[in-house]
Amino acid sequence: MNQPIIGGSTTAPTAEISIDEVVARFGDLPTLAPVAVEVIRLADDDDASVGDIAEAISNDPGLVIRLLRLANSAAYSRGSDVTNLRTAAGLLGIHTLKMVTLGFTLVADMSTDRFDPSTIWRRSLATSVLARSLAARIDPELADDAFVAGLLANIGKLALAEEDAYVGRVKTVGPWMRPSQETDLMGFTSDEVTARILSAWDLPSTLIGAIRHRNEPMSDDCQTELAAVLHVADDAATLILIDDDAGRAGAIDALTSSAATHFGMTIGEVESVIQDLAPELNDIASTFEFDAISQSPVEDIIKSAQSQLARLGLDLVSMLSAEQHRNESLVELNRQLEDAASTDALTGLPNRRTFDAYMANQIAGRIRSPRQTMLGLIIFDLDHFKGINDSFGHAIGDEVLTEFGRRLEDCSRRGELAARIGGEEFALVLPDVERPIELEGAAERMRTLMGSEPVKTAVGPLLVTASVGGSYARVIDGETYDILFKTADKALYSAKEAGRDRVEIIPLA
Ligand code: GH3
Ligand code: MG
Ligand code: MG
Repeated sequence: MNQPIIGGSTTAPTAEISIDEVVARFGDLPTLAPVAVEVIRLADDDDASVGDIAEAISNDPGLVIRLLRLANSAAYSRGSDVTNLRTAAGLLGIHTLKMVTLGFTLVADMSTDRFDPSTIWRRSLATSVLARSLAARIDPELADDAFVAGLLANIGKLALAEEDAYVGRVKTVGPWMRPSQETDLMGFTSDEVTARILSAWDLPSTLIGAIRHRNEPMSDDCQTELAAVLHVADDAATLILIDDDAGRAGAIDALTSSAATHFGMTIGEVESVIQDLAPELNDIASTFEFDAISQSPVEDIIKSAQSQLARLGLDLVSMLSAEQHRNESLVELNRQLEDAASTDALTGLPNRRTFDAYMANQIAGRIRSPRQTMLGLIIFDLDHFKGINDSFGHAIGDEVLTEFGRRLEDCSRRGELAARIGGEEFALVLPDVERPIELEGAAERMRTLMGSEPVKTAVGPLLVTASVGGSYARVIDGETYDILFKTADKALYSAKEAGRDRVEIIPLA
């Protein structure tokens, strides 16, 4: 999924920068504040109480104020005002106190006048709040680590602020270069710098590993849940903060794909995670004395991003045929292409590529840690669709496809992936089927949803039915993807043969 589409670079880095020097220079600047050192020591000391930690923190009035604000913020508040540090400490708990103290003291120390660091901090903050909220859904124990990991994830970029070549590039393309672009420039990535600095500060290795590997969504070896949370949260933060149209389209596409691939979440589910966070984001931003992060309602941002994406699909084709030179804009175009390559422009659903990646990920995950549940696959093929194109034109056909995509998306449940896998073929993956009836139910629900209610089109309502084939597998191995797909396809073929507008399910032998 991360392969560049227009040839990748294999040349030597263009700037001579030494990662050792960058880390050493930065490492000298902010030593960990004494209060943070003490809080870390106490948090790891089994005999120490929350009260002891509160006592240590009370030596730093700035930190006290921030912790009180945090305890009263939407993220943590339990409804009543928290007015003293002991109550705040009790409410937050030892682990959160430790992580947040670290986050606060480190953040307070870092600034640069080489470029405006506020864009970096805003994104880090948004990522941390989103990561916390996402983690709370997926694995609540990760929530506090996710918050701190998000906050610290970009300090490598600040450390690079002393490097002229890096600053020069930031001035032209901004600080959010892809890891491959950073490697082309310097021979290493800013995430590697971040990881080195955090190790120098002796932060937990899980935190460091997650930051280091957050941009490798498909490599199972080093991919942890925390890294996946960070990756998706970072994509969501990008979407909220970005203000150019092409960037927004790329961001929604990246988010749709990473949320589906890592957590089987639809864009609608991610939207609901982000939705309630706007007040919280601004709450936390003010705790850190940053400007407000987001004013626009999340639905509006997502809607505009999706329509940009659809338009981008067309723009890209004309830009490519204009044979652009290989320059910065081509690198950017390459990035957009790479992103746009994961979502279907017509329906906004994940496309075949994302579907394949998601299936591969599901299967690899189950081979690693087998589950009791079955992996289910349903394929839909619209009936006599060619006739619609022939009678009413391709544009009307497109309207039907878009509506089918919408109904499929509406009908899918949390954790399921709906995708457009071909012209008038769609798929629904059910990653945790306990009983075959669940699969049959989903297939039948969708068939009825389509076949009993006409689609409103520009030429009037059209009733379009779909034939549905499904299959499910309990034992998963390297062959499962092929066999499952072929079996579901065979079931679909029987449904067509038997007269269309029906469901056939064939369990895997
Ligand atoms: P069956 O019931 O056997 O599935 O018949 P069918 O006509 O649906 O099957 P067939 O595979 O022959 O036709 C599929 C048609 O879908 C052919 C193609 O022109 C059309 N199609 C594929 N992609 C698109 C698209 O993006 N938009 C439109 N409007 N039509 C498309
Ligand atoms: Mg077909
Ligand atoms: Mg068809």
